[in-house]
Amino acid sequence: MQVLKMELQGFKSFADRTTLTFAHGITAIVGPNGSGKSNISDAVRWVMGEQNVRHLRGQKSEDIIFAGTEKRRPQGAAEVSLYFDNSQHELDVDFTEVVITRRIFRSGESEFFINKRPCRLKDIHLLFADTGIGQDSMAVISQNRVDAILNSKPEERRLIFEEAAGISRYKSRKQEGLRKIAETEHNLERIHDMMGVLEEQLVPLKAQAERLTAFRALDSERISYAGTLALQELRNAERLLSKAENNRIAATGEYRALSRQTEATEAAKKELLAVMEQESADLRRLDEETLTVHNELDSMKSRQEAFVTRQEELLRSHVQLQEEEAETKKKQAHIQAQQGQSVHDLAQRQAACEAARQGFNLTQSVLAKAEEKVSRMQAALSQVQAENTEKA
Ligand code: ATP
Repeated sequence: MQVLKMELQGFKSFADRTTLTFAHGITAIVGPNGSGKSNISDAVRWVMGEQNVRHLRGQKSEDIIFAGTEKRRPQGAAEVSLYFDNSQHELDVDFTEVVITRRIFRSGESEFFINKRPCRLKDIHLLFADTGIGQDSMAVISQNRVDAILNSKPEERRLIFEEAAGISRYKSRKQEGLRKIAETEHNLERIHDMMGVLEEQLVPLKAQAERLTAFRALDSERISYAGTLALQELRNAERLLSKAENNRIAATGEYRALSRQTEATEAAKKELLAVMEQESADLRRLDEETLTVHNELDSMKSRQEAFVTRQEELLRSHVQLQEEEAETKKKQAHIQAQQGQSVHDLAQRQAACEAARQGFNLTQSVLAKAEEKVSRMQAALSQVQAENTEKA
């Protein structure tokens, strides 16, 4: 069976995705020490299902994931795919090309695929069992395993040879067959035991079966009577139903008539309600008007009281005025009397005044004559004085 190619990514020193194509005639991979040749055979062993990481020259499963270099960061997962030419159908699947893939993450989670479909590790072991390239086959032998095989115990070596000879598949099938025979024998024993128990139970069961037959005959009779009864009940029920239907039709008629009445009553009720609402509004308005009239009445009452009080005051004032009038009249009479006296006095005084005026006028003319005389005398004096001055 031809290995066609291998793809590696993140596996040990293969950080980048690397594809190795195995064309016909390739027999060796050469390279300097430490360049990664053994990592390729490790990858083959690993993808074929190697479980022991020490066989891949590691300590823990994480060691097979690219650990990084000074210039590159470590990878989070490693993945290897191995492609086989299955055109001869050496592998028990319908594909002409088979690819098995294994992937591992740093978390330890591991995945297997056959032709890109997830599968179990066991499926890969079964696929390659007895093909000569199984997990423990001699097809891939690492440097340090040559010594280990040569130094192994005879029975361990026998297992390796059996695998290489392709008989381990038949051995495991034989073991599986033997296991199934043992299991079947065990089941047979159990069936025998159960048959013994069942035979013991058979006698009472027979009696039970007879009782059951009698019961079934009676039961079918009962069912037939029950059928007749049910038919009778059905007819009664049909009669009742038709009666009920008539009642329903009559009730529907009554219901409709009542509905119409109810509608008419509802309409009348609505009208009455409208009237009541109108009357309520009128009543409220009347109440408001009555309140206004009451208020006005109260106001008029208080005005009337004020008026009465004022009238009483005016009456008192009137009486007082009458008294004052009488008093005034008395005073008027007295004044009139005094006025008569005054008129008389005035006439007397006027006469006296007239006499005084005449006396005054007379005095004035005397005075004017005297003044004239004085001025004549003054002129004569002035003349005398002037003559005296001339004489001197
Ligand atoms: P030799 O001829 O000595 O056997 P070789 O060519 O077979 O060497 P390998 O042993 O396959 O080489 O590869 C060793 C190289 O792989 C070393 O350089 C090592 O640093 C590198 N290597 C191994 N594991 C990892 C890892 N997890 N991450 C990065 N590099 C790794």
